[in-house]
Amino acid sequence: MNNQDQTISQRDKKHLWHPLTQHKTSGEMLAIAKAKGAILIDEDGKEYIDGIASWYTAVYGHCNEMITQKVAAQMQKLDQVVFSGFTHEPAVALSEALIQILPQNQEKLFFSDNGSTATEIGIKMALQYHHNLGNDRKVLLAFEEGFHGDTFGAMSVSGLSVYNGAFEEHFLKVLRLPVPVGENNQKVLSQLQGLIAENNIAGFIYEPLVQGAAGMKFVDADGLDQILKLCKQHQILSIADEVMTGFGKTGKNFASDYLSEKPDIICMSKALTAGLLPMAVTSCTRAVFEAFYSEEISKGLFHGHTYTANPLACTAALAGIELLQSAEMQSNIKRVEASHRNYANKLKNELKVKNLRQLGVILAFELDVEMERYGNLRNKLYSHFMEEGVFLRPLGNTIYILAPYVITDPQLERIYSSIDRALKKF
Ligand SMILES: *Cc1c(COP(=O)(O)O)cnc(C)c1O
Repeated sequence: MNNQDQTISQRDKKHLWHPLTQHKTSGEMLAIAKAKGAILIDEDGKEYIDGIASWYTAVYGHCNEMITQKVAAQMQKLDQVVFSGFTHEPAVALSEALIQILPQNQEKLFFSDNGSTATEIGIKMALQYHHNLGNDRKVLLAFEEGFHGDTFGAMSVSGLSVYNGAFEEHFLKVLRLPVPVGENNQKVLSQLQGLIAENNIAGFIYEPLVQGAAGMKFVDADGLDQILKLCKQHQILSIADEVMTGFGKTGKNFASDYLSEKPDIICMSKALTAGLLPMAVTSCTRAVFEAFYSEEISKGLFHGHTYTANPLACTAALAGIELLQSAEMQSNIKRVEASHRNYANKLKNELKVKNLRQLGVILAFELDVEMERYGNLRNKLYSHFMEEGVFLRPLGNTIYILAPYVITDPQLERIYSSIDRALKKF
């Protein structure tokens, strides 16, 4: 029975178990009733600027009418159908649109449900590719501190943390490489040469240019290009996890567009469906696909999720790509970029601001204060922003902005001034 005299936040506590939450020490969950553009509205009517585009999904704004109308129309026509033995217009149209904007070497698309399954499939493609070709390659390579999701393969290639520590003994075999940041490029490269000489590596998974969950850490593009080149020379398949970086956030459609070495496999989710519905795509080259193309049934990729290529999610993704390519959205991205650059110029002179960095609409820095002085600084920062109607989720002492592209200039100013006040307060 609903208890209508209680708030949604109160009713929530009875049956719901939230992600990434220690319920004993966390407070009440905030009930969000509505969202529009860059604004979230809670059950009491208080507004918050969505400074992280709801985990990097709603980049064209919440409840975007162009997208919701197309999905509503599709909903009346075909809701869901098996994608094994069947196909449909939204999936085919999406494949054509995606191939247009993906790096040119990408040719085949495999659908799934979320970022973790996208990387899980990328890992399985790399392992089975070598298995099918008769190569003895069972080890994977990943960056330290990377994050690729919460399923077992994805956890295995992610850096160790509270997220995956309890499952360590069940992991796949993974070798780790430090992230190239410029001055260490040569060292990282010779470490990689050593690893290649001593191991049979099947694939290398990485977040291109920006490691999201690690705290928006930047990767040196030249260093990464050299790693990818070496991988290619040794038939190690490269798997670009663009789940966070994809669809315009770095200022280009994909972070891989900044690199000269193109990946064999690309993982996409989050903004793929514009924040409307969950879906993911793992794309690959013709060469990867051909290793599975055979008279032998067992050489196929026997992986499949029930909601594979759901027509509604495909429609949302197709509408999202149309928006991304529009002149209006491209100028929004440039406007947010320029606004961040201006603000970064001001922040540069702040003593407490460390490692200031920007790429596209992503702006991040570390707050250089004695963490102990403030107890749990991260939670205090979070509360400061929320009280001021700004939804930012600092990662430790890293403050970052990744707002929807449609955020207005006054809304951007409100985020900046709230950060300014945090710099005074802490
Ligand atoms: C969020 C994220 C994932 C996991 O995606 P989910 O949809 O949360 O499973 C994987 N890789 C990267 C880089 C991410 O940012």
